[in-house]
Amino acid sequence: MTVLSDRMEDYIKVIYLLEEETGERVPTSAVAEQMDVSPPSVSSMLSKLEERGFVDREEYGGATLTEEGELVALEILRHHRLLEQFLVEALDYDWSEVHDEADRLEHHISERFERRLAEVLDNPDVDPHGDPIPDPDLELPEETEARRLTDLAPGDRIEVTRIRHRGDEELAFLADHGIRPGAQLELLEEDPFDMITVAGENGEETLPRRVARLVEGEAVPEASTE
Ligand SMILES: [Zn+2]
Repeated sequence: MTVLSDRMEDYIKVIYLLEEETGERVPTSAVAEQMDVSPPSVSSMLSKLEERGFVDREEYGGATLTEEGELVALEILRHHRLLEQFLVEALDYDWSEVHDEADRLEHHISERFERRLAEVLDNPDVDPHGDPIPDPDLELPEETEARRLTDLAPGDRIEVTRIRHRGDEELAFLADHGIRPGAQLELLEEDPFDMITVAGENGEETLPRRVARLVEGEAVPEASTE
C-alpha cells in the first residue's frame, strides 16, 4: 500500500464514515468538527489528498473518496475493527474501552499481523460494537436491516446490534446507562428537549438524542421480554 501519514489515513477514514452515515458528499466543516481542527487546515489536507488521488472535491459540493481512497479507508477499518475484537477477546478489555486503543494501533500493524489477527479471531464479520469488518479483499459483509433507537415509536423494542462511535467517551457513557450490544431496549418517550427515555436492563434511562442516535438494533416482538 502507498505510504500515507497517520494523519492522512485518519482524514480518509473520517470522510468514509461521514459519507456512510449521511449518504452524501462530506462538507469541509463536518470534517473540521470531527478532526477538531479549523476548516482551512482541512482544506489544505484535502488538497493534498486530492493531488494524490484519494479524494474528489467539488467547490461547493463537499468531498468524496475516490475508489483508491475508499480502499485505504476499508483497510484501516479492517485493522481497527480486528484490533477492537482482539482487545476484547484476547486481552479482556471491555467493549466500551477499546476504540481509542485501536485508533492508535490501526496505522501500525503489518499485513502479516493483520492476517494472523484475523486467523486467531476466526475471521469475524463484526467487531464488539457490531460494526462490520471488511474481509481480506476489503469487501464488506452483507448487513442486516437495523433500526436506529431515535427512529422508534414509543413502545417499540429493539435488541442492540450496533453502536456507532467515534471515541471511548460515548461508549463509556452508553455502557454506564446499561446500553450495550445484545441489550434489549424499549423506547418509552422523547421529550421536546431532545432527551430520550428507554427501558433497559437496569430500568429507565434518559439519554440525549445525540448519543441515542448512535444505537441501532433489530426489532424485537413484544412477547419476548425477558
Ligand atoms: Zn472503534
